Amino acid sequence: MFCVRCGKERETFDGLCIDCFLNGKRLISLPDHIDMERCANCEEFRISGQWVKRNAEDAIGDIALSQLSAIDGLRIISAGAFSEEQDERNFSVNVDADGELCGRLVKGEAETVVRIKNGVCQRCSRQLGNYYEATLQIRSGKKELDEKIRDGTVRYVRERIENMSSVNRQIFLTKVEEVPGGVDMLLSSISLGKALAKELSDAYGAETKESSKLIGKNDDGSDMYRMTYLVRMPEYHLNDVVIFEDKAYKLSSISKDSAKLTELGSFRVTSIRRSQMSGLKVHSHHEELMRATVVSRSKNEIQILHPRNYSTVDVTVPEGTEIGDTVNVADVDDVIFYVP
Ligand SMILES: [Zn+2]
Ligand SMILES: [Zn+2]
Repeated sequence: MFCVRCGKERETFDGLCIDCFLNGKRLISLPDHIDMERCANCEEFRISGQWVKRNAEDAIGDIALSQLSAIDGLRIISAGAFSEEQDERNFSVNVDADGELCGRLVKGEAETVVRIKNGVCQRCSRQLGNYYEATLQIRSGKKELDEKIRDGTVRYVRERIENMSSVNRQIFLTKVEEVPGGVDMLLSSISLGKALAKELSDAYGAETKESSKLIGKNDDGSDMYRMTYLVRMPEYHLNDVVIFEDKAYKLSSISKDSAKLTELGSFRVTSIRRSQMSGLKVHSHHEELMRATVVSRSKNEIQILHPRNYSTVDVTVPEGTEIGDTVNVADVDDVIFYVP
């Protein structure tokens, strides 16, 4: 075929040889302008239908490249975007692309304006609307939940959610409510509630109970439930002095399936199973232990002043323990024990 412009006999496109065809032709193009939503609450951008965390420059480049189109037969090999701020909300963007057309390497250029618009992402609209699917109820066996346990639990949940939400946008903490007897935490998803209840139960040796409530229909017509996960914190905490089968121990560790007890006096360590932990009775909480002044020390015995009547008492200590000027002691049925 002959090129209708230059007359050379070569393969033609629309009657033109490749040189005449490419001459002055727009190989790639962009829309005149592109509107990009930015969440007014969390400042994430919406690109190709997805809300993403990105700096403004990258987001502007990405949305421009996502709308890049090329003429038929052109394969884009690489493309880069360069943006320039016109004002706070408007950015002019140039895109350069390298491509291949009929076995030739070609270059193309296009430009557009990216306009930033206010929006609200789904997560923020749910969070701002107090959306929740699950409630984590933290309680104790007593009337009041220990303040330290309450604060520790809330901190734990906050940190876990912060970590998880960086990879899963559906995860957030809707609300923390102090209620009589404990604290309620409203969570964005049922699976989150289930996971956190399990984690807290493992960490504290707590009992959990779940219940559900039908609250309506989902968009697809299926039933919509809200779950409640009750986490009942045990009375004992780590490092408390506890009584188990008539002997006094320090509760030295709690894990998923078991706990370790250090017997006072002999300092022998025994393990008990999770199911046996309900048999633990608190003798004294760690922070309520008495302090006694040390008078003298030898290899595995020290002499202390009785914290109430100030008589001198000999108590055994584990070999190799560093003993300071005062020690923690517990009075179990009128016998004073050193608490490691
Ligand atoms: Zn030609
Ligand atoms: Zn948002």
